Amino acid sequence: MDAPVGLGAFDLSGKVALVTGANTGLGQGMALALADAGADIAAAGRSAMDETLAAVQSRGRRAAAIPCDLLAEDAPDAAISGAVEALGRLDILINNAGIIRRDEALDFGAEDWDDVMQVDLRAAFFLAQTAARCFIGQGGGGKIVNIASVLSFQGGIRVPSYAAAKSGLLGMTRALANEWAGRGINVNAIAPGYCVTANTAALRTDAARSRGILGRIPAGRWGQPQDLGGAVVFLSSAASDYVHGIALPVDGGWLAR
Ligand code: NAP
Repeated sequence: MDAPVGLGAFDLSGKVALVTGANTGLGQGMALALADAGADIAAAGRSAMDETLAAVQSRGRRAAAIPCDLLAEDAPDAAISGAVEALGRLDILINNAGIIRRDEALDFGAEDWDDVMQVDLRAAFFLAQTAARCFIGQGGGGKIVNIASVLSFQGGIRVPSYAAAKSGLLGMTRALANEWAGRGINVNAIAPGYCVTANTAALRTDAARSRGILGRIPAGRWGQPQDLGGAVVFLSSAASDYVHGIALPVDGGWLAR
């Protein structure tokens, strides 16, 4: 048996990880966890990445900002080639960027459907495709981690395009895992529960919804960006080399309830 054992299996030294939406929230938390494990970080997104870059560099890792708006058709190609140009190679893609739109299904607009599908699902697919081509071109495998949701398993309330996109993202994770496992590419998902970020600001300012959500979380608290650190390092490292097509909930027990 030559499988890596012990903490060394989680070491990401010498690896380059592209994290979309790395300026804030869960993406920033995961970028810093990957840097703590040794990875250099390509921080992709449409906002300034200064805070994330400084935090990665203070950990002794290389960091580069990769400007991209995932509503644009050419964003996946530009993001992957930008990361390789800046940091020399690519080993890990974290498909984190995502948006949510809230409205009654009876009133839900086409733009709120299309934008969510574009950023949360379509861009994630073409980023994964471009990253996989890059991994294969480098002569090896790689790791793709899609940030799904507990709404990959549930319908949610007033978020039909988000529930559809996140459910689709889980199906896509399994489909890509089936195709690429044999090429040494691991495609998996993390399903976060309810976390304190901009994504959930509207829920947390609604006292009744906030109370209802908190009361249903067995851990008794909302998640924080750093709660995803262990899961993302695991799924980005050799420790998960035989793990393909899963969705790992990081939800304080929400789905077990
Ligand atoms: P967030 O703070 O709103 O972060 C979303 C990230 O996506 C931001 O960096 C945002 O950039 C980026 N983004 C949005 N549209 C983009 C675009 N067109 N092009 C490039 N980047 C774009 O929310 P978050 O909670 O950290 O969300 C991260 C991921 O976790 C999302 O996929 C979300 O669905 C998922 N998730 C979150 C929760 C939760 O409870 N928070 C639960 C389950 C899943 P800007 O800052 O420039 O807008």
